[in-house]
Amino acid sequence: MISTVNGKPSASTANGSGLSSGINATNGTNGSSAPLRPVIDVQDIAKTYKMGDIEVNALQGATMTIYPGDLVSIMGPSGSGKSTLMNILGCLDQPTGGSYKLDGIETEKMSDDQLAEIRNTKIGFVFQSFNLLRRTTAIDNVEQPMIYAGVGPRQRRERATAALQAVGLGDRIKHYSNELSGGQQQRVAIARSLVNNPAIILADEPTGNLDSKSGAEIICLFQRLNSEQGITIIFVTHDPRIAQHTKRVIRISDGRIVSNEPNANVLQACGKKSLSDD
Ligand code: ADP
Ligand code: MG
Repeated sequence: MISTVNGKPSASTANGSGLSSGINATNGTNGSSAPLRPVIDVQDIAKTYKMGDIEVNALQGATMTIYPGDLVSIMGPSGSGKSTLMNILGCLDQPTGGSYKLDGIETEKMSDDQLAEIRNTKIGFVFQSFNLLRRTTAIDNVEQPMIYAGVGPRQRRERATAALQAVGLGDRIKHYSNELSGGQQQRVAIARSLVNNPAIILADEPTGNLDSKSGAEIICLFQRLNSEQGITIIFVTHDPRIAQHTKRVIRISDGRIVSNEPNANVLQACGKKSLSDD
């Protein structure tokens, strides 16, 4: 069922079908020249919100693909459709037109239950405001997605402990979320996003609520997860300093993807006091 994580979802078994297969790290960083299957395949998606008689076309034919092992920023001005796109990529909402395949799975005709399962097994979420459970310890927060996935208590504890160690919080396991700094809370959220060995991590403005040093540390952690474990990570951000630290930058404007380009000069966040110090 659920592939083993041990805190480091490493290049695991190549696997067949099924919602709970872990595909990350199997490709994208191995130098193989065989064509890869995109982990995100968005074709001509539209999203129209209806408010009474008024229709808002938030996405109008957005097309993009993202391959395993990539580290991507999706950027665009306010109102361009970033959150709408993120909600669709995260299977929190569905497009009103076009198709979206996640890890080879068609999502647009899925029921709410199927979407909930794909969210829990294929996607790790990291939010600007951390979204941890209050008055709950770090380890209990990290175990949460595994409870939904039906993982037994002992394995939950082991995997959550390993994930917290992997994000540098091995000594804070029993701390309550309100006893942790913002940067530490975001590390807990990242550990939580990893435990079900997702195909992608979606991070919405992950440094937006952090001071500049903690922000650089969080981007460093994402860069390490990407380069050392091949995890596919997608940031949604308006911050050009984050985009300078990702391998690909996708730009959205008026509900359309206007560019999708590799970044020729990826900056490294590790060791920096701030993302802007270069
Ligand atoms: P961004 O995240 O880039 O700021 P959004 O995806 O939030 O952009 O919004 C894109 C457009 O869709 C905007 O015009 C916004 O007002 C509209 N919009 C977003 N969500 C809704 C909604 N739930 N109902 C109606 N209109 C919406
Ligand atoms: Mg937004």
